[in-house]
Amino acid sequence: MNTVEIPAWLRGETNTAPRYTSYPPAPHFRPDFTAADYTQAAQRSNVGGAPLSLYVHIPFCHSLCYYCACNKIVTKDKEAGRTYLDYLRKELELVAPLYDRQRVVTQLHWGGGTPTYLSDAEMTELMYQLAHHFNLSRAADAEFSIEIDPRTVDDGGMALLRGLGFNRVSLGVQDFDPDVQKAVHRIQSVEKTAAVVNAARRYGFRSVSVDLIYGLPLQTAERFRHTLREVIAMAPDRLSLFHYAHLPQRFFPQNRIHVEDLPSLEEKRLLLEETQAALRAAGYEEIGMDHYARRSDGLFQAREGGELRRNFQGYSTQASTDLIGLGVSSIGQVDNTYVQNHKMLPAYYAALDAGQLPTERGLLLLPDDLLRRDVIMDLLCLLTLDIAALEQRHQIDFADYFRAELALLDQLPEHWLERGPRHLRIFGAGKHYIRFICRLFDRYWSDNPLHQAQYSQVL
Ligand code: SF4
Repeated sequence: MNTVEIPAWLRGETNTAPRYTSYPPAPHFRPDFTAADYTQAAQRSNVGGAPLSLYVHIPFCHSLCYYCACNKIVTKDKEAGRTYLDYLRKELELVAPLYDRQRVVTQLHWGGGTPTYLSDAEMTELMYQLAHHFNLSRAADAEFSIEIDPRTVDDGGMALLRGLGFNRVSLGVQDFDPDVQKAVHRIQSVEKTAAVVNAARRYGFRSVSVDLIYGLPLQTAERFRHTLREVIAMAPDRLSLFHYAHLPQRFFPQNRIHVEDLPSLEEKRLLLEETQAALRAAGYEEIGMDHYARRSDGLFQAREGGELRRNFQGYSTQASTDLIGLGVSSIGQVDNTYVQNHKMLPAYYAALDAGQLPTERGLLLLPDDLLRRDVIMDLLCLLTLDIAALEQRHQIDFADYFRAELALLDQLPEHWLERGPRHLRIFGAGKHYIRFICRLFDRYWSDNPLHQAQYSQVL
């Protein structure tokens, strides 16, 4: 991998690209998308009775990690969780009746913030409310996952989560180096993390995932080797390795990170190369972008079966579900729309106090959006595009429709992608710059540096 290889016209001024957890990306959601639009989308989605996916956002955290770009509220107020639960219940009472009760929820994810900020009793109550309002699957292949801050959970907490029905956990780690931890204000020991992983195994969680970040202050390839050794010894089923995007003008806590402490491009490249080699040697397969999984894990099997999909939490093993977002700032994907709740707690509470859905903005996708979303998601998930299938699904002539985009693809290094009449396949260094390749198909991408500055650097 070598950034010198990236054609200057492709890298542009800012070297940035969306992460494409949605297409079009969230900055293009529109404020004139209303609760009424969402209601209609939910009703349309009931035709066919596809399974449902639920995402519940719990925004609270005990302390602030300086690198954080999540929508969170740092507070010690224990009442905050109690009040929030009352509003989640109000939202459930408004949202659940929009969906056919027969539709089965096959995926459930609690994210944050820190979902385990809630007390044991509050988490039990929330699961009860979800089961009361929705038809939660009891099938063995249902995926019920929760993000865990290992600093906030003990053995009993893990037993409770399993008892509530969760079968997958994802643990934030980022880096075990003490200096790096100090620089980002997140002190978390190897022992505490390993205890949570061991408890997850003991209580029969099906998959354990660990999140790491590279590009943090004071990180070096050498220091990160230690973190990687410890993490590989814990043998998680999945790993994600995200690039830290330093955007202090957008994410205020990042102002506490000293720019001079950030690793150079060369150091990050070395760290990434070493990490990828170590993960391959330990039996992990690269899945799409930033994710790794053992061959025994569902994510790998979904990719092999062509079922892998991308969503706001990363990658998902189930292709055809409508995603309902619950809680402040959550985003849903229902029928041919995206819908986002109010991002600020007072506005979220006010809408629910008024008996209204807390919809802040959203987007009705046009046929061109749906087509380009398929192209981008297939490339990001499967690294290939089946042109014949796409043409049939969208009733287009691919070469004709994407004449301009294909002319740009032809200028990419030939060891990045293979282009045949019926397929596109990305390989080699092309995998590392896949966001740039997807960007070529993004009709919303603009040359305006202010627009580009909203997105993170590719490396
Ligand atoms: S990284 Fe996670 S735990 Fe840390 S502040 Fe952000 S949401 Fe909270």
